Amino acid sequence: MSITAQNVTKRFGGFVALDNVSVDCPVGELVALLGPSGSGKTTLLRVIAGLEVPDSGTVLFRDDDITKHSARDRNVGFVFQHYALFRHMTVFENVAFGLRVRKWPEERVRDRVKELLRLVRLEEKAPLYPANLSGGQKQRIALVRALAPEPKVLLLDEPFGALDAKVRAELRDWLRRLHNELHVTSIFVTHDQEEAFEVADRVVVLNKGRVEQDGRPIEVFEHPKNEFVMDFLGNVN
Ligand code: ADP
Repeated sequence: MSITAQNVTKRFGGFVALDNVSVDCPVGELVALLGPSGSGKTTLLRVIAGLEVPDSGTVLFRDDDITKHSARDRNVGFVFQHYALFRHMTVFENVAFGLRVRKWPEERVRDRVKELLRLVRLEEKAPLYPANLSGGQKQRIALVRALAPEPKVLLLDEPFGALDAKVRAELRDWLRRLHNELHVTSIFVTHDQEEAFEVADRVVVLNKGRVEQDGRPIEVFEHPKNEFVMDFLGNVN
């Protein structure tokens, strides 16, 4: 009962970005995809989300093959790098967007958006535009926008990359809290070992499109499986 990528290969032209990757994320866990730049982290997330079609392999959710489903039918929320909020929409409209696309009745849209803004303590920002928010506030809105349609899976691509250390730490707590309160299975991409070890229940270390190691943070940290993982973890910035 989990979200699983099974033997996924993805090529761009002749370049193999993912080479027979298998990853299993148990339901309810918060998983960090870790690895150097270019190791295939974003590509794997996009394959799971249905934003990239793999050359081979499957994506399963609770044993259902969802590889053939479009991104919208996968019940997956996606948080892009650099927030990607709609600049011409208010905070309220940003969070409501996915619900209106899914034709939720307007009354339910209002209730759901209010509930989510309250959860991240930004109710009073509802009528403002993203330009009037701080980086941390924008990212909290991006988080609840992805969670609004009640996805079972939340995928986040370097969600805190653009923020300074203090705000990053705050957002890690928000991610953990939202993940727990909204009962999702979450996978987030990071190149920051400390961040992965601090927040995640499980870490997956990628290198050159392959999984080097996968396990509980403490296991991976204490028993790196090979020299690559040992060197990579030794490089904590
Ligand atoms: P990471 O997220 O670990 O930095 P990516 O998944 O973004 O790595 O990329 C893995 C490799 O695949 C990189 O070498 C990248 O240049 C290549 N790649 C990713 N997307 C594309 C694309 N759309 N076209 C061509 N090459 C791509």
